[in-house]
Amino acid sequence: MSVSALAYIGLGSNMGMPMQQLQAAYIALNKLPGTRFGEISNIYQSAAVGPGNQPDYLNAVASLHTELAPEKLLLALQNIEIAQGRTRDLRWGARTLDLDILLYGDLQIRTPDLVIPHAEMYRRSFVLFPLFDLNPALVFPDGKNLRSHLESIDKSSISMSCSAEAFINTCS
Ligand code: ATP
Ligand code: CA
Ligand code: CA
Repeated sequence: MSVSALAYIGLGSNMGMPMQQLQAAYIALNKLPGTRFGEISNIYQSAAVGPGNQPDYLNAVASLHTELAPEKLLLALQNIEIAQGRTRDLRWGARTLDLDILLYGDLQIRTPDLVIPHAEMYRRSFVLFPLFDLNPALVFPDGKNLRSHLESIDKSSISMSCSAEAFINTCS
């Protein structure tokens, strides 16, 4: 068995019954090859930041122990998005499911198709709140810690929609 990395995946949905989209994504992430599911965070609701008048988002973060290389993991996540009806019509438009690789161990990658750590994550409360649920002592590859990023972001317009425990119960 090859070495596995601890990866954090951001889940988001604001179309097609978002809670059901996250449930389906949770089940799919539990079935990823070469991967052991870690934990899911609480589920958060926040206002959309994209163009137009979009419905609110539901977001969460999942941790995975995976042997998939980052590029393979991205492909596997994109396949889950597609299976759940994701289309890419408009940048930051409403979507059934968005799965982003936030962190992959201590790796720092910058290619045209993949930037890890995810470029926007430090500014997003809907990423930092759920990350804090999973690992409050998290230190990013650049040495900065999650707590200090949380102190400097806008925390308005985000609320907990559902606990991780209640969420998992609805998935089984
Ligand atoms: P944002 O990246 O700002 O959250 P988005 O999630 O709406 O926006 P997408 O349309 O889902 O953006 O993805 C656009 C491209 O981003 C993908 O085709 C993918 O190649 C690239 N990408 C770069 N880094 C990552 C990453 N860490 N996780 C997922 N996709 C990434
Ligand atoms: Ca995203
Ligand atoms: Ca994405």
